[in-house]
Amino acid sequence: MNPKFEEVSGYELADILGENPNFLKSGYTSSNEYDALWSDLLSGKSWKGVFNNRRKDGSEYWESASISPIRDELGEITNLIAIKEDITQQKKDNDNLKMAAAVFDATQEGIMTTDARLRITAVNPAFTEITGYTENEVLGNSPAIISSGKHDADFYKNMWTVLLRDGRWSAEVWNKRKDGSLYPQSLSVTVVSDDRGEVSQYIAILSDISERKAQEEKIHYQAYHDGLTGLPNRSLLMDRIEHDLELAKRTAHVSSLLFVDLDRFKRVNDTMGHDVGDRLLEEVAERLKSIVRASDTISRFGGDEFVVYLADISGPEDAVLVAEKIVESLSNPFDLNGFEVFAGASVGIALAPNDADRPDELLRLADLAMYKAKESGRNQYHFFALKMQDKVNRKLALENLMRKALDNNEFEVFYQPIIDSVSKEIFGFEALARWKQPDEGMIPPSEFIPVAEESGLIAPIGEWVLEQACHDISVLDSGHGNGKLHLSVNVSSRQYPLGFNAASLNNILVKTGFSGHLLSLELTESILLEDDPDLLQWLSDFKELGVNLSIDDFGTGYSSLSYLKRFPINVLKIDQAFIADLNKEDDSASLVKAIIAMARSLNMNVIAEGVELQYQVELIEHLTCHYMQGYYFAKPMSIAELTEWIANYKLMLSKKDL
Ligand code: C2E
Ligand code: CA
Ligand code: CA
Repeated sequence: MNPKFEEVSGYELADILGENPNFLKSGYTSSNEYDALWSDLLSGKSWKGVFNNRRKDGSEYWESASISPIRDELGEITNLIAIKEDITQQKKDNDNLKMAAAVFDATQEGIMTTDARLRITAVNPAFTEITGYTENEVLGNSPAIISSGKHDADFYKNMWTVLLRDGRWSAEVWNKRKDGSLYPQSLSVTVVSDDRGEVSQYIAILSDISERKAQEEKIHYQAYHDGLTGLPNRSLLMDRIEHDLELAKRTAHVSSLLFVDLDRFKRVNDTMGHDVGDRLLEEVAERLKSIVRASDTISRFGGDEFVVYLADISGPEDAVLVAEKIVESLSNPFDLNGFEVFAGASVGIALAPNDADRPDELLRLADLAMYKAKESGRNQYHFFALKMQDKVNRKLALENLMRKALDNNEFEVFYQPIIDSVSKEIFGFEALARWKQPDEGMIPPSEFIPVAEESGLIAPIGEWVLEQACHDISVLDSGHGNGKLHLSVNVSSRQYPLGFNAASLNNILVKTGFSGHLLSLELTESILLEDDPDLLQWLSDFKELGVNLSIDDFGTGYSSLSYLKRFPINVLKIDQAFIADLNKEDDSASLVKAIIAMARSLNMNVIAEGVELQYQVELIEHLTCHYMQGYYFAKPMSIAELTEWIANYKLMLSKKDL
């Protein structure tokens, strides 16, 4: 043995001289291997192979050996010579490489390697699976091929800073598959440096986490939603209320919480089974959804309790409107598995910040109010605040009284003269509804018109006023006007959806013999703001009958004159407030002057309303406004009073007393 063998095996020649080399065996080389060895050697051939051996200190090592027989002149084998090489390290490296290759191929995570100049040098099968790109398609390309475009320059700048500083970087990023679809992935990049410390390659490991993301979202969703109805649950509701109340402190808006409790859920559940009960709750959720704005929150609060949270409303009336719709909608029968089921609901209302400005307190008060609603007979809503409830009760009482008022002939039409600014002659009259309620006395239109509008009763009332006025002025005209007296009648914008139209107007004109071109319909600006393509047609149809269309209370709404131009409007009534503001000293007249000038340029007639004082008359005349109306000339009066008034006025005019 030579010194190298001593070094590798740890044995010295003296230790082992004369020994069989058996002692080198580790026991891990199979006996087949030795059999092959001996059969080669004994037949005179050389043998090459690998042993797993054991050093003197007991540790294992691998060696490759080449053993050759040496023969004498007779051809007999006399010696064996073995040339050995320690290949332990080599074998280890080799095994590692093999293992790395196997891992590269078999791992679930996509792997992409690039050279120092960022050209892709290898990708594994998982990469192909995730991105849709085969190795051939990406080799030599830049990794940008899979970037989604969702991350900005700063994002990549930060990536390079970290990567070059720490040698590794990882993040969740959006990338793009070959088919163009985007997916979230977790990505980690490692820098590989060569012996001199220069970057030699980059290794990127990526995995598709869309499923994990989806799972996370699902878990998040489940944590905040009711399993049965899919509505936000109590936690999400509380979050939203809290958020809104915070916001309300800064923007000073009003919000409302409606506590909805089904009146007969328990009966349904007990008698028809839980399946039917569940179906009912689902249906209730659907009906509630169809009532509120998308920005409102409906929550299943537990059992048969729902909470509707209306953030940022214009006032308690909005809450009333929604509560009414809820009560009405849930009182309609449900069709459950072929059965007609009546559930009904009671609603309690609390207002923020008036009643409470904390979520739990708001809920508690609305819950209390809901019990009040149940006590007073179910299928109702109830405010927590008494003052609110008084208003509601008054409104409901009025509505009930009003239902009978038409049949009982409790309505009357009053007339207020409209005067020509130049000649001071009577131009016509505005018809104004009056309600003489037997028990309550005179109820002013400012109180009953809004209730009539909300309840829909404005439809029959409006048409009744129109017909009565056309009739009255027809009769009056045949005595005093000779076909010259005009009539203005107020039309509520609610009458549009309720079905009042040119055909109904025409019936009235025919019935009363009143001529369309002497009639003006007074509408408020708000109707022109309605987003309805049929509205223009509705207005044009009136125009076809020769009727004038007038904008009442002009200046208080949002419309500009140029906006009005789009509609067939030919009369403007300047709101009373502007006339009341007219002042002899300052230039408050300039606004009125501007309205008149612009209206004239659009060929519209202008009426100044609420004229009460002598100097207003003079000023308005000076501003060339066509007509005037107001207490200065006359208050609204009954048709009987009007007849008398006309006679007096004419007398006065002829004496030039005005
Ligand atoms: P409006 O259409 O602006 O009617 C003018 C209101 O101003 C009338 O009040 C009238 O009495 C009042 N007024 C007239 N001259 C003066 C004045 O010189 N000074 C003051 N301070 N006020 C004056 P009224 O009759 O109480 O009617 C109130 C509102 O109710 C009307 O305002 C109108 O919007 C509505 N309304 C009345 N009748 C009807 C109707 O038949 N249908 C509809 N849809 N609304 C009606
Ligand atoms: Ca009016
Ligand atoms: Ca008016």
